Amino acid sequence: MNAEQNIDIIKAMIAKVEETKDELTELDNAIGDGDHGINLARGFQAVGEKIDALAAMDVGAQMKAVGMTLVSTVGGASGPLYGTGFMKLGAALKGQTEVSDEDFIRAFGSMIEGIKMRGKSTAGEKTMLDALCPAYDALSEAHGEGRELKECLAHAVEAAKKGVEYTKTIPATKGRASYLGERSIGHQDPGATSALYLMEAIASAL
Ligand code: ADP
Ligand code: MG
Repeated sequence: MNAEQNIDIIKAMIAKVEETKDELTELDNAIGDGDHGINLARGFQAVGEKIDALAAMDVGAQMKAVGMTLVSTVGGASGPLYGTGFMKLGAALKGQTEVSDEDFIRAFGSMIEGIKMRGKSTAGEKTMLDALCPAYDALSEAHGEGRELKECLAHAVEAAKKGVEYTKTIPATKGRASYLGERSIGHQDPGATSALYLMEAIASAL
């Protein structure tokens, strides 16, 4: 993957967030404050406004700029979390104009570590990590079996879908939804859902 293809990935994420923002906001209405889709759409729209500047950068700088834009434009918990995640992704790919499959997986791992650190959270707490962590595991496993990245990503998306379903069965222990405690059971986590959609966008762009 190169910087030009990464621009296609970024554009796909912008389009996907725009397309799903109402659904994400509705999910957040049920167990949060109903702003998740609006928040993310605002952030990715701001990324879209910078797309020409991003096109001149290497992949690491592109992802870092996406992260910084999200931190400064997305409100709520998800802004700093996704923002930190993309900044860590960018740092892991610093100076790279070409990204190998191994680099991609390593950078995705850094992103997750960044989110965990920033959110003081881990998988199993009804958050975006319940989509991201199983996706990472599936991606690594498929790569270990010698599959090509496109196929690995398909496995990752499937694992993220299962992770999103799993969020319906557990109570939230992090973020706004944790105020509901057991009453959050039965509801799908908005952040896990947006993480799934971002991964679908990446998979479709590749
Ligand atoms: P807010 O809850 O501040 O309104 P958003 O609605 O934009 O923020 O995002 C809510 C989502 O953020 C949740 O659905 C959850 O997936 C994610 N989230 C919240 N807190 C954490 C955390 N500590 N670690 C990881 N993800 C979190
Ligand atoms: Mg919210």
